[in-house]
Amino acid sequence: MPLKLNSRRAKIKREKVLKQNIQLFGEPICGICLKPVFQHEFSIDHIIPRCICHSDKTANLMLVHKECNLQKDKQKLIYS
Ligand SMILES: [Zn+2]
Repeated sequence: MPLKLNSRRAKIKREKVLKQNIQLFGEPICGICLKPVFQHEFSIDHIIPRCICHSDKTANLMLVHKECNLQKDKQKLIYS
């Protein structure tokens, strides 16, 4: 489930995840399709689903395209 990005804390977390992603890959990369993602089109998602590990720590968060995230959620609905 995507994080709600309205609060100040969520914005700070979003910046941290962006920095972490740039440090790892040299540019923002989508964690689902592995293609570059522009700052205005990214969303944040959990690497290990929150329902399993209950962690919102930056290490468990990745950048994803909003579209990729929506597709993933649709697939979850189909297979659940
Ligand atoms: Zn993507």
